Amino acid sequence: VPGVPVGSHFPLRRDAAEAGVHKPYMQGISGSRVGGSDSIVVSGGYVDDEDHGDVIIYTGHGGNDSATRRQIADQDIAASGNAGLIISQLEGLPVRVIRGANGDSSYAPTTGFRYDGLYRVADHWSKIGQDGFRIIQYRLEKLPDGDEPIASPVPGGPAPTRPVTVQRRIRSSAVIDRVKRAHRHRCQICHDVLEVEGGLYAEGAHIRGLGRPHEGPDVPSNVLCLCPNDHVRFDYGAIHLNNDLLIIDTKSGNHVGDLRTVGSHLIDLIHVTYHLNLWAS
Ligand SMILES: [Zn+2]
Repeated sequence: VPGVPVGSHFPLRRDAAEAGVHKPYMQGISGSRVGGSDSIVVSGGYVDDEDHGDVIIYTGHGGNDSATRRQIADQDIAASGNAGLIISQLEGLPVRVIRGANGDSSYAPTTGFRYDGLYRVADHWSKIGQDGFRIIQYRLEKLPDGDEPIASPVPGGPAPTRPVTVQRRIRSSAVIDRVKRAHRHRCQICHDVLEVEGGLYAEGAHIRGLGRPHEGPDVPSNVLCLCPNDHVRFDYGAIHLNNDLLIIDTKSGNHVGDLRTVGSHLIDLIHVTYHLNLWAS
């Protein structure tokens, strides 16, 4: 927001709303599935939240008793703020983070609310939270301060009226290369090979994500060789694997295919079960 530097302090939520930093007066997530989420408030309202400073594990909204801060019902991934943060991840749109003094976190301000800069939504998943109900969670990663969003020109279109920052995730490593070679770049889900001028294209998909909070290992038994479409479907839980390595459509629960495997690349079912528990009810 122009004129609101990182570190700006607001005594009340209303002040942050009037400054345009976080517009809703009540909800923790600003935005919706149309255009994504532009800001969130981190104030310790959910027991499953974790604040590590540059990395925040943020719980979506819904199903929370504001008096006790405990979950009393499942959260809905399609609820507007929850879906908005997923759109922010899919489109690579940054999110303003405002921390409130109510948090148990050592990163929270002592009073009021503070604008703490832009974060990107790096990941999302669902799981059964501490109170026994299904919650939606997001991994937010701090973007460098002063790294102002750069306006990206739209090909053939007019100059953009609003700056946009876009993140793209490209991973390559010896582990991923090994898995892709074992499968000769053939997708383990749809069994297709994506051939482009000059070679074959595939992606390595970690079954149990790397880094907090999943802490999956970067080893071949935790990686699948997938085409880009199936990589996205798998990462975002549209499909998952059961313990027999059957491919399940998460929404319908239907068996939609069998994971293709080869003897030279073994998959560790511990990681498959971990991913399954993130998405299957
Ligand atoms: Zn595929």
